[in-house]
Amino acid sequence: PPYGQSPPWYPTPKGGIAASWADSYAKASKMVSKMTLAEKVNVTTGTGWEMGLAVGTNAPAIHVGFPQLQLQDGPLGIRFADNITAFPAGITVGATWNRQLMYARGKAHAIEARQKGINVLLGPCVGPLGRMPAGGRNWEGFGADPYLQGIAGAETVKGIQSEGVMATIKHFVANEQEHFRQPWEWGLPHAISSNIDDRTLHELYAWPFGDAVKAGVASVMCSYNQVNNSYACGNSKLLNGILKDELGFQGFVMSDWLAQHSGVGTALAGLDMTMPGDGLGWADGKSLWGPELSRAVLNGSVPLERLNDMVTRIVAAWYQLGQDDEKKFPRKQPNFSSWTDEEKGVMSPGSPTEQEQVVVNQFVNVQANHSVIAREVAAEGTVLLKNEDLLPISRQGLSDERLRARRDAVERATGKRSEGKFKVGIFGEDAGPGNGPNACKDRGCNQGTLGSGWGSGAVEFPYLVSPVEALRKQFDKSKVELSEFLDNKASFGKGDGSLNDLELCIVFANADAGEGFTRWADVSGDRPDLRLQNNGDDLIVKVASSCGGGTGDVIVVIHAVGPVLVEDWIDTPNVKALLFANLPGQESGNALAEILFGDTNPSGHLPFTIGRTLEDYGAGGKVLYLPNGVVPQQDFREGLYIDYRHFDKYNIEPRFEFGFGLSYTTFKFDNIVVIPQRRKTPYPLRRPNPAAEPPSYSNDIPSKEEAIFPPEIRRLEKYVYPYLDSTDDIEVGQYPYPDGYDQQPPLSEAGGDEGGNPDLWSNYVVVNVDVINDGPVAGAAVPQLYLQYPETESETDFPIRVLRGFDKVYLKPGEKKTVKFNLTRRDLSYWDVVAQNWVMVTEGPYEFSVGLSSRDLSISGTW
Ligand code: BGC
Ligand code: BGC
Repeated sequence: PPYGQSPPWYPTPKGGIAASWADSYAKASKMVSKMTLAEKVNVTTGTGWEMGLAVGTNAPAIHVGFPQLQLQDGPLGIRFADNITAFPAGITVGATWNRQLMYARGKAHAIEARQKGINVLLGPCVGPLGRMPAGGRNWEGFGADPYLQGIAGAETVKGIQSEGVMATIKHFVANEQEHFRQPWEWGLPHAISSNIDDRTLHELYAWPFGDAVKAGVASVMCSYNQVNNSYACGNSKLLNGILKDELGFQGFVMSDWLAQHSGVGTALAGLDMTMPGDGLGWADGKSLWGPELSRAVLNGSVPLERLNDMVTRIVAAWYQLGQDDEKKFPRKQPNFSSWTDEEKGVMSPGSPTEQEQVVVNQFVNVQANHSVIAREVAAEGTVLLKNEDLLPISRQGLSDERLRARRDAVERATGKRSEGKFKVGIFGEDAGPGNGPNACKDRGCNQGTLGSGWGSGAVEFPYLVSPVEALRKQFDKSKVELSEFLDNKASFGKGDGSLNDLELCIVFANADAGEGFTRWADVSGDRPDLRLQNNGDDLIVKVASSCGGGTGDVIVVIHAVGPVLVEDWIDTPNVKALLFANLPGQESGNALAEILFGDTNPSGHLPFTIGRTLEDYGAGGKVLYLPNGVVPQQDFREGLYIDYRHFDKYNIEPRFEFGFGLSYTTFKFDNIVVIPQRRKTPYPLRRPNPAAEPPSYSNDIPSKEEAIFPPEIRRLEKYVYPYLDSTDDIEVGQYPYPDGYDQQPPLSEAGGDEGGNPDLWSNYVVVNVDVINDGPVAGAAVPQLYLQYPETESETDFPIRVLRGFDKVYLKPGEKKTVKFNLTRRDLSYWDVVAQNWVMVTEGPYEFSVGLSSRDLSISGTW
């Protein structure tokens, strides 16, 4: 198709082809075959915004025993709930580069979800990918690289689903900016179109979704935006073609909230569940499905087959996760309400119909010891970016020896000697509690210390340990005198001498962003620039020039939703250390103190590049802030070249490169061994035949009676029901199907099983490397493997290097361990748009470089 256009792909591949889901489909088919038309529609359609206690609820199929499903945000904890854990955000998880922690956080999150009565978690998030460093929701995901997103997403899915809770991988796909993501927030008739070429879609934006599908994810949420000028939730190429055929997705596709823009069209394009159910406006009772889907099936405009497949996919996912086990998933409503903090309330506050007050909040505490995981992730997700012989400090401030040396030096320089306790200043609103962590709805403002971004991906903090609170508690007051300056606008500065006594200044600053439905200051979801907010840069500059009259040591701590520019102060000589703590969640201060005081050796690495200017990221890195058409068009013309791929290609020196992070110890690599596992061949093995047959049902259009409103139902106004008042005018007719409906494209050679062609996931080569801690203290290294494609005669253009492996290894001083990287066929391939398949280069050698960042690659081997 021409650039920016999406080709047709019909009809929807049916679920039920994978061996891994065969039992669940067999059970589902028994149940679905007994459902009435109305029950089937119920399962596919939400009951409307605020019509249940969770942010999304479909309706049950009562007589066959299928319950109402409860869907709740979001990726970092249970949204709108009490007594839960506010885990660190995705970006912090990405910065840990620790698979076990990724899994453990997902698992703990799901335990809380299950105990609160939730069936489906609306996370993890791997889209946005991070094309634009100022994109408002990048922090919900794991970093600006598809491989890192893929591994972190898959581990999180496995962790969540190990507890029987369905995970939702979102947002499919290319919702890279908040501006114009959907029409109504931005006063436009249409959402933005992300225009992406086929290769880039495969190698970057869809890649992590592939990992999630391979991991068995139950649900995929399609995004608000259009992709190649077709709404993501109605885009047949994306949903039918890529997701359900090529990636072999066996679960169900749910819409983002009100992301559905047509009824029949989305059904044919592969959507399986619409949320929150009312399609045209919040809680307005007008659904594009619900009664309209009943009508569409009765008049033949949506084939019954398609409805059966939608429902079977949803019911199969429920069986697949073991949710039919009533001991684990009692058929009860959630024990909390998203819409009130009071004990009592109504079940459907979205409806104007008067309802009985019932207990809706039982205040069940589900936190267990999850604060431990929250704290581990926060500590391991803290990245040490600069350290000139300052960190770690001790609780006594500095060792007696270092304190004496420091005071001698200051005395030599100034003629004045400081005496007594070590004098430490803590600066910045971001160090303190502000007006409390939940001061603004959905965390939609930047005040006090920053623990998460805002929007549906945020939660009500049960508590938030601010940095100042932890430091106050932990500094030894017999040795250290603490002063606090928690107002960014306080007037002090060079010349006024007020900070002359300070010997160490710890200064905090931040940058916030979030979902487009809330704006703060000039941050309309997306950030307007990459600067620190609330005057952060000025604060740091002032503190650096005034701390100890300009001789005091300065530690900068940053909490941020993504990259920030550090150029104003990073080279200032007394700015000795920089800690990038990302978004640490409820355990913020405790985790930070562990790192500052050296209880934990920092081991976080950047999940994105920190450039010197926004321009450094290239034209593709810029948010489109003004609509450029009736359907705003955003061309992803940079193709594969985002983040470090861009910096590498154009030879731009970043300030801190992707993958970078310091430790209190040092590591080296030795002895790289490349062990081929299989022969190089250009194409994967042939697509396997399906392991199982999708269920088949009678295709006879059900009786119109099945869609008539049962008179005994007490109707709530605006609530979405599957029923029609009258079916008299419905006649089976001939309806025009979308162009291309009758020309099914060939099934993809990249497909054939859950996650795609299984050969794509076979190991083709193993790379072993020794990593040695050759420094003074124990610590964790993050060895990263980057692949360089062979040079070919062909036109194919390759990024200089791409991440294709990482690990996290704890090493005592002097200790050596061997790290093993498995590279799959997919890892070694590129997407060939002509062959429409993943292709391995067989001509020259692949090069594998291993090191501690994308630009610190000390050892390499070839295959
Ligand atoms: C967000 C989704 C979220 C949904 C439900 C939407 O606005 O984009 O990420 O899951 O709302 O709250
Ligand atoms: C709601 C969110 C929802 C968002 C979608 C807001 O009004 O509070 O829960 O995710 O709209 O845009």
